[in-house]
Amino acid sequence: MSHLDPEVAALLAMGEQVSDDDQRHLDSCPECAAEVASFARAVEAGRATRTGEELLTPPDRVWESIRTELHLPDAQAGDDETPVSSDVPSAATRHVARRRRVSRRPVFFVLVGAAVAAVAIIAGVWLSGGIVPRPELISEARLDGFPTWAGARGEAMLERVDGHDRVVVDLTASLPADGYREVWLLTSDATDLISLGVLDGDTGTFDVPADVDLSRFTVVDISQESVDGDPGHSGDSIARGTLAAP
Ligand SMILES: [Zn+2]
Repeated sequence: MSHLDPEVAALLAMGEQVSDDDQRHLDSCPECAAEVASFARAVEAGRATRTGEELLTPPDRVWESIRTELHLPDAQAGDDETPVSSDVPSAATRHVARRRRVSRRPVFFVLVGAAVAAVAIIAGVWLSGGIVPRPELISEARLDGFPTWAGARGEAMLERVDGHDRVVVDLTASLPADGYREVWLLTSDATDLISLGVLDGDTGTFDVPADVDLSRFTVVDISQESVDGDPGHSGDSIARGTLAAP
């Protein structure tokens, strides 16, 4: 049975989904499990370098895998410039030895290239959100200003990240110094509503409680509220829009 590719191990270490076959192999192979754990520590170390902790080196088997992948001789053979045999070297072995010498430099550069590629894969997955889950845009809404709020407008996005839903709103409006703004989800007929929270400034991100039926609560509303102790909607909506698939 062949072991996991280093790229697959790196992806696993960063919490990415891999094929069922790879997952099954990981579950039954202590060696690959150890490699994934090692990668995970390297990822942790990569994060930790900002705080000055030391980096770990990748396990030898990663380099072996890269060599195998690139059909390169192993490190010992590549460095050995003399024939192994104690006999007088034949023309053939001399040829092999000479060819090895000639090829050492390209092999070195290929290995450096592979190392750079491996680092780039890890960094790329990291930077592209492989570790911090990338939010998935579920739906979005343009928020239209109400007539009493001339020029008000905004937008809202419903995102799913790491199994949770959240609403990101952005509001452009000339707002009074008094009171505060509150973000709501309404049903399309506005007969039911829930508060997502207070909008502090122009933009805000609000977690949607897991028990909210987002197929019913499709309207995003931002209201002007006064500090009157009434937790309900003031009835003074600034902007509102209906979420729709992007
Ligand atoms: Zn394995």
